[in-house]
Amino acid sequence: MNYSIKTLGTEEELKSVDVIGKNVISLNDDFSSLRKIIKKIKNDVKKKRKISHDYIIISNNSKYLNDFVASIKAAYILDNSKRIDFIYDTICDFLDNDFKKNNYCDFQKDKCIACRLGVTEHERNGCCYSFEVAGFFSMSMIKNEGPCRYLTDQGCSTRNISCKLVTCRYLQENGVMYSPYKFLLIRCFLSIKQIDVITYNFFTTKEEILNKLKKKSYSPYVFWLMLRLFKVKR
Ligand code: SF4
Ligand code: SF4
Repeated sequence: MNYSIKTLGTEEELKSVDVIGKNVISLNDDFSSLRKIIKKIKNDVKKKRKISHDYIIISNNSKYLNDFVASIKAAYILDNSKRIDFIYDTICDFLDNDFKKNNYCDFQKDKCIACRLGVTEHERNGCCYSFEVAGFFSMSMIKNEGPCRYLTDQGCSTRNISCKLVTCRYLQENGVMYSPYKFLLIRCFLSIKQIDVITYNFFTTKEEILNKLKKKSYSPYVFWLMLRLFKVKR
């Protein structure tokens, strides 16, 4: 289905644009109202309602601009597998760009800012150390800790969305943290179970997470949680 999206900065700019027959959407920072708009677009597209598929988005400096535009694009991807691929890559791109632009981890050779300040357990390689949750009767919380198998000299060799969504305590104390629940793209298109999958599968590959995301689960949510069915099985 064909659609178009044009973005403008402010309503002032509407004066020089042809708006006849187009959906003009003025953004704000109210997550739940934007979510409702995206859900409506998603339903309209799914039910093939005879609506205009041309959008003019007025950003008003909304922090959700990119997320909102990406969500409209996702609504027009009717193939479930392709839509999940798109959501996964778009969220990873967003997080990568945010880290790069702000240089949060500030790596110098193989030492990030937290390593250099001595506020992590490790002297190098940031937080790329994998571990497993220890058994119920174990004295410690984790076991088998060691450098992640996907870490290379060029950095992470896979695109693990769970790792990208989490930040260490040092960054969190400096206000850098993400929640999957704060992305329109995630909240409007993924189920709660799928959100668990992208949240808790550290130290696995992108392909493993995507496979898990695309697989249907019929277990009741309580079993999903208790039996840790959200985890990629290896
Ligand atoms: S999240 Fe923290 S520990 Fe991990 S690389 Fe960045 S600064 Fe270092
Ligand atoms: S999978 Fe996670 S822990 Fe492993 S190298 Fe990549 S980002 Fe680091």
